[in-house]
Amino acid sequence: MKDKQIQKLIKEEEKRQKRVINLVASENYVSKDVLTALGSALTNKYGEGYPGKRYYRGTKVVDKIETLAQERARMLFGLTPEEWSVNVQPLSGSPANFAVYAALVPLHEKIMGMLLSHGGHLTHGQKVSMTGKFWTQVPYGVSASTERLDYDEIEKIAIAEKPKLIIAGFTAYAHSIDFKRFRKIADACGALLMVDMSHFAGLVAGGVYPSPFPYADIVTTTTHKTLRGPRSALIFSKRDDRELDKKIDKTILPGLQGGPHFNQIAAVAVALKEAMSPAFKKYARQVVKNCKVLADELARLGWRVVEGGTETHLLRIDTWQGGKGIGGKDAANMLEDAGIIVNENTIPFDTRKPLDPSGIRLGTAAETTRGAKEKDMKKIAAKIDKVLKK
Ligand SMILES: *Cc1c(COP(=O)(O)O)cnc(C)c1O
Repeated sequence: MKDKQIQKLIKEEEKRQKRVINLVASENYVSKDVLTALGSALTNKYGEGYPGKRYYRGTKVVDKIETLAQERARMLFGLTPEEWSVNVQPLSGSPANFAVYAALVPLHEKIMGMLLSHGGHLTHGQKVSMTGKFWTQVPYGVSASTERLDYDEIEKIAIAEKPKLIIAGFTAYAHSIDFKRFRKIADACGALLMVDMSHFAGLVAGGVYPSPFPYADIVTTTTHKTLRGPRSALIFSKRDDRELDKKIDKTILPGLQGGPHFNQIAAVAVALKEAMSPAFKKYARQVVKNCKVLADELARLGWRVVEGGTETHLLRIDTWQGGKGIGGKDAANMLEDAGIIVNENTIPFDTRKPLDPSGIRLGTAAETTRGAKEKDMKKIAAKIDKVLKK
């Protein structure tokens, strides 16, 4: 590389990534093949439009790549092209969610999503996100006693508020979601059901988390978390006479974006193929097993695990413990000094601010990619305990 400054910084970051224990729940390590596709000549090509319908010429090859990515996305989740359409062009998760609302929900109408502080994502209609300025969030949270979803309560809110769209699928929720129940709730108030599976898409692909596809109208996902691909996103929509797919495609282009990032789309296609392998199923199982061991060990050492445990790749611990402990930011900083990377995170009904909340979030997707097993999780739990009890 001629640019020595950037080359040096890339090397430094590679070293940092190798040196640390990475428990950031939204991160992962992609394969060499994914990196090769990302760094390929495909980045040079413009091709506004969709396969076979471009505003540019010279697109025969990229048409094949985009079509392959679509086919693989459907294949991975067991979907037929007759029933499901997929848009592989969103640049990342946030713009994908924005595009869905822009396509299907009239401006300033209600979208129902989980509160950020309880585990929802910014783009589920929080006030600081444009999704909360252009649309009105009807918030729901978890139950105060169990810190889990309370479907009766969610149903009550939905029937009273009549949102146009309900979002299920969260950024910090450690248990499985009853998508069937969400379908019933959406039907009871005449709303569309969108599942944002950004965090657990890899677990669905690996068969260790319930699939939202039998129940949702729209499924969005990032491709770079448990799915272990490049930074990108997918929007799946049910194909029927409501024409959700047509509205979404038009909103992505020409509505919001210009030329598709074909290098990124090719890298997504590579990751989707990898996720179909038996090795990936084994990986997904191990991610969940590791997380359970991590949660059990931390609980055994006296830490309060939010929701009382985990069924996924992530968990939150309450480090503040009602004032007896340390804030989430301090905890995350102390762990970073000890070579363990996590993020501070709110816990349900948090009494502290989002920038310095009461807890931290831990995930096992990245370390499992690097080969970590249950015994390593026990060691990591002991290390976390030692650092935070200092
Ligand atoms: C990560 C995430 C997103 C946004 O993804 P970005 O690629 O960071 O924009 C959206 N929804 C959920 C639930 C997420 O966890």
